[in-house]
Amino acid sequence: MTEPPQEEGAQTFEELGLSKEVLTALSEMGWESPTPVQRDSYPLAIAGHDIIVQSRTGTGKTGAFGIPLVDKLITEDGDEQALILAPTRELALQSAAEIAKLGAHRNIDTVAVYGGASMERQVHALEKGARVISGTPGRVLDHLKRGTMNASKLRFLVLDEADEMLSMGFAKELHAIIERLPKKRQTLLFSATVDRAIKRVAEKHMHDPQFLGLSGDHVGALGI
Ligand code: AMP
Repeated sequence: MTEPPQEEGAQTFEELGLSKEVLTALSEMGWESPTPVQRDSYPLAIAGHDIIVQSRTGTGKTGAFGIPLVDKLITEDGDEQALILAPTRELALQSAAEIAKLGAHRNIDTVAVYGGASMERQVHALEKGARVISGTPGRVLDHLKRGTMNASKLRFLVLDEADEMLSMGFAKELHAIIERLPKKRQTLLFSATVDRAIKRVAEKHMHDPQFLGLSGDHVGALGI
């Protein structure tokens, strides 16, 4: 008889060492165990690494960045903020909603910032001190240029569906946004494909990124 393959790492949210508040939120959401991308991203993210995660929609990628953000990276009594950039308003809204649920028992406000909606409401939420800002590149750049969003506390950057953002023509906005962010920050990049254009973004804007492949079984240097 052959032994079943031994899975590495934590198999449950408890084993990942999540806070009581986030475990409660996950149980209310009905999430019983981490998906592979969540299980593998968490330790790297909380250790402070920049990561490139090759992942498709449906793999739990929102949780893969949302859980470490609300659990450890954003501290309740600190002032650091996270900026999540997504290619579409639907995705920006969806991520904001999911992260609000994940952080429901921690004092972390989330705002979605996207085009075609009132600037005023977004400015109000930003002024009130939202700690997680989920938006589309055009509108986020707009807020940064007008000074209605302050980049100095944006210590965490998530590029969600990075390949889609590039193929939709947001490269210029992305670079303009990232150039305004603090140099000392952590960047988490999620993309279904990791081609040369993505590697160029990583090379230019990320610090020694760790790479997590699709199967979740190879973590390593990307060789860029
Ligand atoms: P995503 O890949 O982030 O778009 O997630 C796909 C769907 O799976 C979403 O509806 C999530 O709410 C759900 N989901 C993500 N992670 C988990 C999990 N660990 N357990 C159950 N459902 C999950």
